Amino acid sequence: MLPLEVLEKARDELLDWQGSGSSVMEISHRDKSFLEVAAQAESDLRELMAIPSNYKVLFMQGGASAQFSLVPMNLSAPGSVVDYINTGHWSQRAMVEAARYCDVHLAGDSGGSYNRAPPQSELRFSDNAAYVHYTPNETISGVEFGYVPGTGAVPLVADMSSSILSRPVEVANFGLIYAGAQKNIGPSGMTVVIVREDLIGHARAETPHVFNFLAIAENQSMLNTPTTFSWYMAGLVLKWLKKLGGLRVMGERNRTKASLLYAAIDASRLYNNNVASDSRSLMNVTFTLRNANLDSVFLSAAVKAGLQGLKGHRSVGGMRASIYNAMPIEGVEKLTAFLRDFEDAQA
Ligand SMILES: *Cc1c(COP(=O)(O)O)cnc(C)c1O
Repeated sequence: MLPLEVLEKARDELLDWQGSGSSVMEISHRDKSFLEVAAQAESDLRELMAIPSNYKVLFMQGGASAQFSLVPMNLSAPGSVVDYINTGHWSQRAMVEAARYCDVHLAGDSGGSYNRAPPQSELRFSDNAAYVHYTPNETISGVEFGYVPGTGAVPLVADMSSSILSRPVEVANFGLIYAGAQKNIGPSGMTVVIVREDLIGHARAETPHVFNFLAIAENQSMLNTPTTFSWYMAGLVLKWLKKLGGLRVMGERNRTKASLLYAAIDASRLYNNNVASDSRSLMNVTFTLRNANLDSVFLSAAVKAGLQGLKGHRSVGGMRASIYNAMPIEGVEKLTAFLRDFEDAQA
């Protein structure tokens, strides 16, 4: 979900943006007024995440999935070895794409079932990797790293699609962070890439120009027409985050929300979450019903109670509550009350 306040603001100025008599969607991306929106969004993101000045912020298209290819194309020479940690669906997808360009080495995994993040002591890196890639939060299974892997001098690349802006991170620990916008930044359509300056400028010759990190950085992410509406909406979300107090406050809120929900699941005899306690996601809380025959009854009762989108990803089934930044604590309280009521009604 998006913050209600943000949707209301977008609605209020949809037809007449900043007194221009036009919608923001009708303004040229080269217009001075839009350039200001774009620059403000970047500076708000830099402030919220305390992004050091030797990092570039790129506003791209193609989603996180395009980055599965664009990261190896931009960050590795032909024949390179790259290390990947596999903790679930998205890590796996990233590895499959990287294997088209590089020699992919598995540096660690969840050990069969995707229900834990491996501890640092289990990670085995290559001597000569161009980078190490991992997925801090696996959206589908709800598995989150409770730490940032240490990779020494080798750049760490993180697919932060479902955890960016959910709590403070030390950007300097990463060589590159990428995230599709649609979970915690704004509407779909845009991908944010935060990359250390020395890592750009080494793209493979065949890299499409519009996907070359150096060219994008040199052109303020306006090599071609950007996703102006998503960029504008992301800007509104970033302002909302700043007003709420930034990522420290957001992190506390998110911890409170997730613990309420895990406590309700753990206290019940009907629901079960099988993720290791040190790897439980703050953003995506997965659970199954011990009696899977009740799944569809549960889902329709939830919709009747106003609780939408609880069906788990089609690849794993079960249930998933995605409680991204915009989900208020009251939304989680409503869900925990529903979980209790539904369980009681089965008795
Ligand atoms: C949703 C998601 C993706 C896919 O994002 P697209 O923008 O649809 O390509 C990739 N990685 C993670 C961790 C995700 O949560």
